[in-house]
Amino acid sequence: MPNGSDRATDRNQRKTPTPMCQHQPQCPTAESADRDAAHVVVRHPEQGWSLLCNGVLLFDDTGELLPDGRIIAPHRAPAGAFTAA
Ligand SMILES: [Zn+2]
Repeated sequence: MPNGSDRATDRNQRKTPTPMCQHQPQCPTAESADRDAAHVVVRHPEQGWSLLCNGVLLFDDTGELLPDGRIIAPHRAPAGAFTAA
């Protein structure tokens, strides 16, 4: 039975703080490529955005605003909305 001796691992479990994320296993951070796979904690469909537990603001058009202020351009075209470019 695995018991005891978990203390050291406990202490340095997480180096990057993601204070809002309480999930296990922890969700992708705002720095990772799959950041939008994190859980939605606040949803505002009437305003067209959701807040993820890693601090990312996810917009309806798949654009994102990162906690550090960076903006990620929309990476998926909304269904049926094709613009000739
Ligand atoms: Zn989470």
